[in-house]
Amino acid sequence: MRPAHALIDLNALRHNYRLAKSLSGHRALAVIKANAYGHGALPCAKALEADADAFAVASIEEAMELRAAGIQTPILLLEGWFEPNELPLLVEHRLWTVVHHAEQVSQLLQAKLAEPLHVWLKLDTGMHRVGFDPADYAATWQQLQDAPQVASLTSMSHFARADEPDSGRTETQLALFQQTIAGLGGATSLCNSAGVLAWPQAHADWLRPGIMLYGATPFDFPQDLASQLQPVMQLASAIIAVRDLPAGEPVGYGSRFITQRPTRVGVVAMGYADGYPRHARDGTPVIIDGQRSRLIGRVSMDMLTVDLTDLPGSGLGSKVELWGKQLLASEVAAHADTIAYQLFCNLNRVPRRYQG
Ligand SMILES: *Cc1c(COP(=O)(O)O)cnc(C)c1O
Repeated sequence: MRPAHALIDLNALRHNYRLAKSLSGHRALAVIKANAYGHGALPCAKALEADADAFAVASIEEAMELRAAGIQTPILLLEGWFEPNELPLLVEHRLWTVVHHAEQVSQLLQAKLAEPLHVWLKLDTGMHRVGFDPADYAATWQQLQDAPQVASLTSMSHFARADEPDSGRTETQLALFQQTIAGLGGATSLCNSAGVLAWPQAHADWLRPGIMLYGATPFDFPQDLASQLQPVMQLASAIIAVRDLPAGEPVGYGSRFITQRPTRVGVVAMGYADGYPRHARDGTPVIIDGQRSRLIGRVSMDMLTVDLTDLPGSGLGSKVELWGKQLLASEVAAHADTIAYQLFCNLNRVPRRYQG
């Protein structure tokens, strides 16, 4: 069997969720959209079921997969529904929904629903992606509050730069939120992982941790609380071939890497078809038998090449960690001009194995 696999530590997932909750003492949605950021939505939901106050996903398709498997926990649709004919399914599957634009309001007010829905009304405080303008918010709130289709209303917004402590934007967004919702009542929610970890004054009634559940930091600098997270995914494989090259020889497609010294090249069963980033540069760290080495040469579809010259004890069959507890995904991401979020979400082809 091909040795490439992803090992998912469900105890670490639970640890990270509990850490998020412990920071506010209030409720927390576990964000498990996009197949739990590549970790497998269903096993992750099952692992968190006993703890999680609610789950959040990006679409009704993602939610129905959880319901079909027997998950009873409340589930929030982060962008609501996309077509009005989905509305009866929201009732049937007991889904909570975000409402973020006027078209959704009129669709909801025209719908004949067997039961009213729990609505999270989204305010645009400066992200400028989705949500109502502050000027329209109170009127929309009033409209929905009086509607028979609505069971409860929660106010939410989303930070654009919560991972940047000094941008000044988060304070501005928070102030605009508080000013706009003053006097409306209902629960409130603002914080993604960066907010959970760095903006306690914005914790409000519901946290919305995503990336931190999977043990990756949302910051590109060391942060105390983020250092308490436990990586959940280990992307692992093994050395499947070794070759010795003299100095001056090219390795791999395009001859991107040229050996500077006599070099022992290890070939790892892992490539961009598995989700390892093709843009990873020469020198991207990898762990071989517990020791640091580096990527040399372009990543190909099924294989990549590493430098074994300084690891004489390693060879055919040696264990390789591409990211995990010994090497954080965020560090690898930085070598490929991306973020850990994308590395996780791009996971493909490799079997996931679960422990915990
Ligand atoms: C994805 C998402 C989150 C989680 O964000 P992280 O940065 O992964 O913590 C929170 N809120 C909303 C609205 C989202 O879409």
